Amino acid sequence: MKMKTKSVFIVLSILSAIGILVASFIFTDGVKSLLWDKSVTDILEVTEQGKHALDTFIDKDYDTLHLFAGELSGVESTDKDSIQRILNVFDDETTSFYCVNLDTGESYSDNMDIPIVGEERRQELLGMRSDGIREPFYDSYTGVRSIGVYEHFTFADGTHGLVQKTRSVKSIRDHFTLSFYNNTGFSYIINLDGDVLIRSLHKNSNRTIQNLFDMINMEGNNKALSSDVKEQLSLKHSGASQFFYKGEDYIFTYVPMENGDNWYVVSIIPSQVVMKQANTIIDRTMRLCIFIMICLAVLGYVYHWNSAKQKKKIEKLAFYDQLTGLYRYEKFLIDGEARLSGGDMDIAVLYIDILGFKLLNDIEGYNYGDTVLKYMADVLRQISHSKDISCRISGDDFLLMIEYKKREDILELCQNIINQVESGFDQEKKFKVRIGICLIEDAKETNINGIIDRAKMAQTGVKEDSSISYQFYNKTMREALLRDAQMEQSMVQALDNGEFIYMIQPKYSLDGSKILGGEALVRWQKPDGQFISPGEFIPLFERNGFIRQLDEYVFTKVCEDLHERIQKKQKIVPISVNVSRVHLYSENFAERYNRIKDMYEIPDNLIELELTESILLENTKEIFNILEQLKKYGFLCSIDDFGSGYSSLNTLKDLPVDIVKLDKVFFDQSDHQDRKIVILKSMIDMAKQLYMKVVAEGIEEDEQLEMLKNTGCDMVQGFIYSKPCIIDDFYQHLEK
Ligand code: C2E
Ligand code: CA
Ligand code: CA
Repeated sequence: MKMKTKSVFIVLSILSAIGILVASFIFTDGVKSLLWDKSVTDILEVTEQGKHALDTFIDKDYDTLHLFAGELSGVESTDKDSIQRILNVFDDETTSFYCVNLDTGESYSDNMDIPIVGEERRQELLGMRSDGIREPFYDSYTGVRSIGVYEHFTFADGTHGLVQKTRSVKSIRDHFTLSFYNNTGFSYIINLDGDVLIRSLHKNSNRTIQNLFDMINMEGNNKALSSDVKEQLSLKHSGASQFFYKGEDYIFTYVPMENGDNWYVVSIIPSQVVMKQANTIIDRTMRLCIFIMICLAVLGYVYHWNSAKQKKKIEKLAFYDQLTGLYRYEKFLIDGEARLSGGDMDIAVLYIDILGFKLLNDIEGYNYGDTVLKYMADVLRQISHSKDISCRISGDDFLLMIEYKKREDILELCQNIINQVESGFDQEKKFKVRIGICLIEDAKETNINGIIDRAKMAQTGVKEDSSISYQFYNKTMREALLRDAQMEQSMVQALDNGEFIYMIQPKYSLDGSKILGGEALVRWQKPDGQFISPGEFIPLFERNGFIRQLDEYVFTKVCEDLHERIQKKQKIVPISVNVSRVHLYSENFAERYNRIKDMYEIPDNLIELELTESILLENTKEIFNILEQLKKYGFLCSIDDFGSGYSSLNTLKDLPVDIVKLDKVFFDQSDHQDRKIVILKSMIDMAKQLYMKVVAEGIEEDEQLEMLKNTGCDMVQGFIYSKPCIIDDFYQHLEK
């Protein structure tokens, strides 16, 4: 996976994980607050119910008390028997009735005698509201903590009295559970000051707290909380709140009672208990989220792994050469371009091809060819470093992109490749390579394609017969290539336009007194009048095959001109035309030339065909046949540039050659002038023995001419007598 898509994938995964987390937090938060609200409502309801039951309970006490007071108000305050009788009627097990004559302080009870109420207490009782409830007090008559409801009344004789119905706090606790939520929450009855009046006696209930506000005011709680609650209580509002006590959070709800003197039912429960359910849901949700995330991660990983595998498969097909296992050209372009964009300058591209691979393929078969290619790939793999990039372009062409420190490193690497190739897997059938090298620093202006082109250019420039099989690209090569491209583009048109003309360089007798012949030399005359010398375009035309057309064109022109002169009965001499070795491979070459010769009715032995010495390297039998044929058609045949290569006269002896043209290298000044003259003389002698004529080429100086004295050389073609001249000039000289 590419870095970019990989990071996108990671970012997306992180984002979706965050998304799931946030969503689950929002969800659990929602659940939490919902459950919280519900729990608070539940507790408030429980509290409300408790309060209601308690109120009703106390209402009943008021009712019986009122009945009791009604009975008493029908008797005289002095009628103790009647008072006692009424008391006994109302007597029951859980409560006790009690009556005081507020004028005298005399008091009566339903089950015991009680002493006269003291003056202070009497005044106190007189000052009390007409009816009400007393906060829990210690009942000295019964010996238990009790609460009581009281009511003022008037005896039949107008005396003031007070009745009270007292019940033990225990009986209230017994009547009301005061605990809920599985005994984890408890209710208390408090007054406005927060004092606990009645509490649950369950073992789990907090029995130490005396005042609600003592708890609320403890550290960890909002300072305003207790005053807020107090205010709510004083306004007789019910509500819920939260406080922190001894390391735990509590919820409490408060509901004002109808009966009771600013009494409130308060329920307290640890938040944890309330939130237990919520926490369970949250816990499960979290687990589910984590599970989903793990599942997604696993799915994502499997998908990623699968697509990476798939991608690798496709990449392998698209980017790897099936045969050699090297990269394919396309992949080289991608990776190479990426490498170049890094801006490194110490990079070189090597273009490597196997010499004569096509021939090898033809002779040894494709399987053998494949083995050679695989071996070549192995060599490249072996010499490559991890950062190097190699590929097979196609056929037998390979590329290698390397990093180097010094130029010598590259030379060493090339030598290494050459050595490995030459010490190849098959000692019987060795093969060679040609390597073109382009340094990035020599081609800064271009991209990967341009660099490969330049490496290829350098590779093409490596001469097949050279001892050095590698070459660096340089600017001159490129210029030459551009020029070649331009020429190639315009050559056909130029031939049609008659831009190609020929000049004739005369061949003189040794003493320069007579013109014995001439050589037609082609020129490219551009429309602007500029001349391009054959040295610039002939090699290109030999490579692209256009030389065949051009040679035939020159040959035809020469025939045409000779024909005209013959018709006009003007003076003529044998004219030689150059024939590139490329013709030897084209079919019916001799026949074609002969047909033209016949067409212009050129007599035999008037036209000489110059074939370069290099043809002697070809198959002698074939050359023999062609020369024989040309001779048969009435052409003179000469070997051009003789001595510039490696051939000896010996190679010539079996060929039907009429003329040998000694290359100018024979006449170049050198240290061994004397030796040279000896060789020259013996060569000319041998040629004579083979009945061949000898032409000395490139003679410029008198000293060179001097060398030819007494050698028997037949003709001299050189600047010393004449440069190539335009046709008219040549014939004018001839006429003279
Ligand atoms: P070449 O066939 O060896 O032709 C002789 C070349 O030597 C000519 O060069 C000529 O100008 C030059 N030359 C003659 N005398 C002297 C001298 O005293 N000193 C020096 N330095 N040079 C001398 P040119 O015309 O530039 O042609 C170069 C080559 O191009 C020819 O070498 C020939 O191989 C090739 N060529 C010319 N015309 C044709 C053609 O029509 N067809 C083919 N295939 N090749 C041609
Ligand atoms: Ca020639
Ligand atoms: Ca020549």
